[in-house]
Amino acid sequence: MNVTLATPLLSLKGVGPKRGADLAQIGVRSVGDLLSRFPLRFEDRARFREMAGVRPGEAVTVAGTVVSCGMRLTRRAGFKLFEAVVRDATGTIRAIWLNQPFMANVVTRGTDILLYGTVEHRDTGPPQFTNPQYELPGRREPDAIHTGRIVPIYERAGCASCRVQRALVYDVLQHLPDDAADVLPAWLRAEMNLPDWRTAVADAHFPSAAAPLDLLNAFRTPAQVRLILEEFLLFQVGLGLRRRSAATERKPVVPAIDDRVRAAARAVLPFSLTAGQRLALKDVVGDMARPAPMHRLLQGDVGAGKTIVALLAAVVAMENGLQAAFMAPTEILAEQHYLTIRQLLASGPYEVALLTGSSSGAHRRRVLEDLESGRVQLLVGTHALVQESVRFARLGLAVVDEQHRFGVMQRAMLKSKGWNPDVLVMTATPIPRTLALTLYGDLDVSAIRELPPGRTPIETRAMPQSRRDEAYALVRRELDAGRQAYIVYPLVEESSKVDVRAATEMADHLAAEVFPEYRLALLHGRLRPEEKDRVMRAFAAGGVQVLVSTSVVEVGIDVPNATVMVIEHAERFGLAQLHQLRGRVGRGARQSSCVLLCQEPAGEPGEARIRALVETSDGFAIAERDLELRGPGDFFGTRQSGMPTLRSGDLVRDRGIMEQARRFADLAIDREPEGPLVAEARRSWSDRFGLASVG
Ligand code: ADP
Ligand code: MG
Repeated sequence: MNVTLATPLLSLKGVGPKRGADLAQIGVRSVGDLLSRFPLRFEDRARFREMAGVRPGEAVTVAGTVVSCGMRLTRRAGFKLFEAVVRDATGTIRAIWLNQPFMANVVTRGTDILLYGTVEHRDTGPPQFTNPQYELPGRREPDAIHTGRIVPIYERAGCASCRVQRALVYDVLQHLPDDAADVLPAWLRAEMNLPDWRTAVADAHFPSAAAPLDLLNAFRTPAQVRLILEEFLLFQVGLGLRRRSAATERKPVVPAIDDRVRAAARAVLPFSLTAGQRLALKDVVGDMARPAPMHRLLQGDVGAGKTIVALLAAVVAMENGLQAAFMAPTEILAEQHYLTIRQLLASGPYEVALLTGSSSGAHRRRVLEDLESGRVQLLVGTHALVQESVRFARLGLAVVDEQHRFGVMQRAMLKSKGWNPDVLVMTATPIPRTLALTLYGDLDVSAIRELPPGRTPIETRAMPQSRRDEAYALVRRELDAGRQAYIVYPLVEESSKVDVRAATEMADHLAAEVFPEYRLALLHGRLRPEEKDRVMRAFAAGGVQVLVSTSVVEVGIDVPNATVMVIEHAERFGLAQLHQLRGRVGRGARQSSCVLLCQEPAGEPGEARIRALVETSDGFAIAERDLELRGPGDFFGTRQSGMPTLRSGDLVRDRGIMEQARRFADLAIDREPEGPLVAEARRSWSDRFGLASVG
């Protein structure tokens, strides 16, 4: 019987409802799913060792004949132990299998057997294996697959053990048709010197004895590279198709960028731009001058100066008779932006308005009218507001601040309202290039890498909790000098009552016993929005001196007078999050400091994170490091959507291959727009990667 990639596993011999369900649980339903899921690693069980020469602790393969075997009684009731003594020309080994009574049907006296396991130390008697891998050459399994070769190790999936999966993959490989379809273009295979699909998939599971083990375990044999590249290519072709379809969209008005517009922009500029800002602005304005709407992500560390770049883009839009919207994630941030922008545009002719949830009815109605008539040229507001009720006369530019996760959705929302403006999404959470290529593959990316001149770097120190008093002394010193402080308390879950109670107790303790002479307030995620707002405002105005907070303070609030932050249990936070938190201080010209209090010993990877944070202040370097330490799945937390489901490839391990794939995908779309690769991407992209469909 032949199988194809589409054959459901349930129709195979050896896959009953229970195994089928356990495999489906990890996304493996078809033969194709099974084959594209790589082993975790490989073990060399090819070379047989003489039994007399094995040492405790070694992982070895031996071959011999069973000289005695049977069930043994154990002291524990209901505990079954099967024992076999195996002999080769040099000596004997004892093998025991715990609670696997069926072994009595597999192994009998006189059976030839291969065993693979770790040798255990025993005071008396022959060396021993517990639950070794075994193979019966020449009898039940015609080719040795579990020992006697380089053996693939699969991750257990419920009752589908590693051994079951290995046998299943082997069986499937024997029944694949020889002419299985190959979607990789021939020119690409030749250029990269890659095997055909059939060969690759066989070698990636059951490599030949000649395959170097280190290369196999680094997933860098030609067979493995080919399968990873294929997966990434399909993904990138899908993204490439989206990008191309976006490039055919047309905005109603293409802004002109002439001397008059340039002069207007120069007039609002309060300082000279950094080199990074200039480059980012060039990208943005370049996009605006094109007929297709801009879809650009602007990355830049906290304080890198993204706002002015967006504002200059807004000036370009307004000078062309278009409106601009500036969307912030919270009311306070919207207000801060509004004040900054009003100040910068004070001498200009532009009509700027603010609209938030707490805008009064009359004000709100007027702003909405003025937007619809076109009188208001620049609207600053929260994301929610712009989504719901607003009608623009001629929206030309939408700036989405600090919310890259929703930038893509926002674009869809704007489009659904019949607008197709230029969209600029800004984020202070730098995203490593590989991830940007993946998550935002349909966005263009600009980055501002340096901070404006004149900043004093934040002094970051890690301390054990036992030195908390020192940290508090530092806080007191700043408070006495008229500054303000953050004390951050980690919550596992912002919504959990228990956690909030812990934070509340901490705040009470600090207020009553540690800082009784100062004004403290507590901020956490379970406060009502008005309450949160009240606390933040009091802190921004200086009324509150110490803000005890959970990580909700993370979002870009700007209180330049806050010069010290103490982070409790820093080892529990992610690296990018710690960096974000730290960015709340160091907003003014004064020296700021950040103290990371850690439980001792924090253990890896907590310690590695802390070290990275103390050593570097570059958000991009930190993001790369975070990705390495945590892997892409955890990078944004579990709520992050937009991560593709990958089988063969790994975004961290195989990042170089992802970059190649992006390049090859563009070539493939150009050279063979109707070829099998592009066709396959069109057909299966959304299903395969668990993402919204390709345009
Ligand atoms: P972010 O990228 O975090 O949004 P902002 O745009 O809020 O950063 O800028 C942070 C601060 O740096 C602001 O006070 C801004 O006025 C100032 N700033 C931005 N660019 C420059 C520059 N080129 N020279 C001097 N100060 C700058
Ligand atoms: Mg900002």
